[in-house]
Amino acid sequence: MATKRDYYEVLGVSREASEAEIKKSYRRLARSHHPDANPGDPDAEERFKELTEAYEVLSNPDARRAYDTYGHQVPRGAGGYPGGDPFGGFQDIFDAFFGDRFGGGSFFGASSAQTPSRGSDAEVEVEVSLREAAYGVDREINVQIVGNCGVCEGVGGTESHVCGTCGGAGMVRTVRESILGQMVTTQVCSTCGGQGRIIDVYCDNCRGSGKVSEVQTRRLRVPEGIEDGMRLRISGAGHAGDPGAPAGDLYVRVRVKEDPELMRDGEDLIHRMKVSFVGAALGTEVEVPTLDGPTPVRIEPGTQPGTTLTLEGEGMPRIRRRGRGDLKVVVDVMVPTRLTGEQRDLLERFEAVSGEETYNGGGGSFFDRLRGVFR
Ligand SMILES: [Zn+2]
Ligand SMILES: [Zn+2]
Repeated sequence: MATKRDYYEVLGVSREASEAEIKKSYRRLARSHHPDANPGDPDAEERFKELTEAYEVLSNPDARRAYDTYGHQVPRGAGGYPGGDPFGGFQDIFDAFFGDRFGGGSFFGASSAQTPSRGSDAEVEVEVSLREAAYGVDREINVQIVGNCGVCEGVGGTESHVCGTCGGAGMVRTVRESILGQMVTTQVCSTCGGQGRIIDVYCDNCRGSGKVSEVQTRRLRVPEGIEDGMRLRISGAGHAGDPGAPAGDLYVRVRVKEDPELMRDGEDLIHRMKVSFVGAALGTEVEVPTLDGPTPVRIEPGTQPGTTLTLEGEGMPRIRRRGRGDLKVVVDVMVPTRLTGEQRDLLERFEAVSGEETYNGGGGSFFDRLRGVFR
């Protein structure tokens, strides 16, 4: 073909034609120009090739853009049909045509540009106190993020041109003859690395990488009731992706510091309250630390070691239900480990006037009741 006809003219569509219009026109013309439909016409094959070439370029958005910019001067091999024969042989064309592979959009299916990949996720850790975990807290976090260069908008260069090897498609198609017939392979273009563009002037700000590493400060609400190790996701706040692709997500792993006085048990809190053996025997008033500060709690006379008192609604907020859990106060009875002579005398006198009934005055202890069952 000495002088190539304009692709739009070949397909009989305007330069503003939509993809659907181009496809429709191609299918209509391909039927009438098909060599099988024109036996004995030596020009039919050429016309069909011309038509298919025009369709292949105009149906590929990147190749079409390159054609609109450069016309037929885009070096041979561009527009998604590299190599000598742009059609990969007629058999292949017919397979594609009659195999109805039109659904995917592009005639050759895989000849469209590579999909730009999404940025990777970032993760950062934040530590909160138990109180903050209970009531929620606003935090400012600093994250080291790989972002798009603001100067070149992630492209890596301030000036670039469409890749001549792939015509901007980012992929090249190779056709080989083999004993099994036509072998068609589609690979990432090695000239542009799949980007579809060649950079002429590299960006100074990012040294051509298109990416810059920066510390970003974000405000974050740690929701009430959060548990240690839970992750919060901030959509799109992760590392930048390829130009045109979304950024990754940012995951914030929340660590809840252990509290010296309140132990967490799901939505409940546990506090071990130390009470002297005298206090447990005589009854006393103690101050229990709660999330809202110290609260007076009455220890009844005769309170046994391990007794659990429940302060309803003084626990952690429930994540999936309304209200709060409980604060469980476990009584630890302290037994003296070192006695003065006077204390020893007092206790010996106490022991002398005590009997079994001193210890099972009420309903008796658990073991007493157990003994009763077996007696
Ligand atoms: Zn840059
Ligand atoms: Zn290329």
